[in-house]
Amino acid sequence: MGGKFLSIGECMVELSQAGDGLLRRGFAGDTFNTAWYMRACLPADWSVDYFTALGDDPMSDEMLAMMSKAGIGTSQIRRIPGKTPGLYLITLKDGERTFSYWRDTAAAKKLADDANHLRAAIEASDIIYFSGITLGILASEAIDTLLSELRRAKASGKIVAFDPNIRPRLWSDKDVMLKTIEAGARAASLVLPSFDDEKVHFGDPDVAATVARYHVLGVPTVVVKDGPNGVTLSFDGKVEHVPAVEAKAVVDTTSAGDSFNGGFLSRLLTGATPAEAAAHGAAVATTVIGHHGALIDPGLLPV
Ligand code: ADP
Repeated sequence: MGGKFLSIGECMVELSQAGDGLLRRGFAGDTFNTAWYMRACLPADWSVDYFTALGDDPMSDEMLAMMSKAGIGTSQIRRIPGKTPGLYLITLKDGERTFSYWRDTAAAKKLADDANHLRAAIEASDIIYFSGITLGILASEAIDTLLSELRRAKASGKIVAFDPNIRPRLWSDKDVMLKTIEAGARAASLVLPSFDDEKVHFGDPDVAATVARYHVLGVPTVVVKDGPNGVTLSFDGKVEHVPAVEAKAVVDTTSAGDSFNGGFLSRLLTGATPAEAAAHGAAVATTVIGHHGALIDPGLLPV
């Protein structure tokens, strides 16, 4: 029997260099990337919906059309007159990618401004997914609204999954950033942190410290991603390690964590054990980093 997955956050317009001064237009954003891989990996009796706010401009229309074409539900997406989506540009310099963002006025910053709308969307879903980037783009009142609805969902027994995705440039104050990430985790029943980020920002000496810290915050299931070192799962008093799938070629690591989350959650929701689900997440992530871009053709993914 299927169910309903809802991912909450910001999808942006992506511009990347296409040679001769031309720019290629795409769409991406961490929570949207995970929705994309959920849609690719889940059976058809599961719905995948994206929750955000967009404008009423042609670029917002194009983004919605892309989502619908991918089979991702858009009926919960609010349109805000006069607003536009956020945008980022990828520049290559000596093989290194740098990102420039135009997102301060993005419609997505208003995604949690209508609490009744948010509540209805969450109540209509079985599993809700959000990230530290979702929190990082919101004003403090909007963070409170979102987290109180997510706490309600967790208390009612729904799965609330959270990837801390710590991005200091979204936050003006480090202490506020860390406190808000912790509040996000408290509202979640499952967290999917990347050890690299947790080490730098929370000072965790090892993966075990990250696991312990999230359990103390009241998260029953902790899944720590550690790049090529694989994943550590901690749930029901057990700790398991699942190795990464070796990457023959690492072409572009964008979306490694987002695609792992999609591969992992899709299997977990359809009856796999956490270790089986993590093995699928790792296989999906290795395929994704072997190709350019955040969103690869679902036909390329392992079944
Ligand atoms: P993030 O992209 O969020 O920082 P990680 O770097 O921990 O997340 O990667 C997420 C997942 O992607 C890992 O758990 C692993 O399965 C896979 N992965 C990332 N880098 C590699 C790599 N070099 N080789 C194989 N798998 C990788």
